[in-house]
Order: sequence, then C-alpha cells, then structure tokens
Amino acid sequence: MPTLSGKPWGVLPPHLGKITEHFTFLESVCRCGCGRLASVEATVKTAHWLEVIRTRFGVRPVVISSWTRCPWHNRRVGGATKSEHMKSRAVDFNVKGLPPQQVQTELREARDVLRIGGLGRYHSWTHVDRGPKRDWEGP
Ligand SMILES: [Zn+2]
Repeated sequence: MPTLSGKPWGVLPPHLGKITEHFTFLESVCRCGCGRLASVEATVKTAHWLEVIRTRFGVRPVVISSWTRCPWHNRRVGGATKSEHMKSRAVDFNVKGLPPQQVQTELREARDVLRIGGLGRYHSWTHVDRGPKRDWEGP
C-alpha cells in the first residue's frame, strides 16, 4: 500500500517458509496482494503465541484466514480503525473439524493463561489478538 510519502507500508518477510513448527510467513502476510507485514518481530512473536493456543486443540490444523492487514486492506474489509491486524498481532482462524463456537468456549475459559487480549466470536471464524483485553460478537 503506497502511503502519502510514497513509501510502502510495513516490511516484506525474509522468506515465505516456516516461522515456527506450524505457522509460516506465507500465512502471515497481508492478503491484499502487497504481501507485507507490520514487522518481522511482531509476526514471529504472534506465531509463537499461536503455537501455544494451537496445543489447546490437540493435533488439529489451525487454518488462518487473516493475519496481517495493511491499512488499505483493513479499510477495504471493514476492519476496526486501530485493528491489531495492522500490527501483525491478530489472527482470524478456524480449527479444522471443530465448530467455531466450541473453539470460542475453550478460548474464553483459557484466555488469561493464553494471554488473549481481543477475543472476537464470529459465526464462522474466531478472532484472537495480543492487544488489550476486549470481547465482542460479530456476524
Ligand atoms: Zn496489503
């Protein structure tokens, strides 16, 4: 996303392969086509945090639909003005084989130990982020 200064937003990942055992830079980059991250450091921290969340659901794959969003993409999809997605600190996801409602019940109970800040409960996905503690329900 070009900014007024002409500089693109964020940074490119060092590669598209694994960050941790189960998460890759390919999954983490903005999907508007810009392929960028807020920062490599924030993305790596989020991946390690996701690994711990993942263990709550056994060996089931965690399927991510949105991780980083550049400001342009965030606006286009109707994201919050200060969305943690624009810091590479938020993830929308599903756990393969589990209804989102079951994922959300589990995460609500474990949110403090998992250090989940924002927990968004949507009908067909779950949002988690590393920002301040907030809860909301979406369509
Ligand atoms: Zn983008």
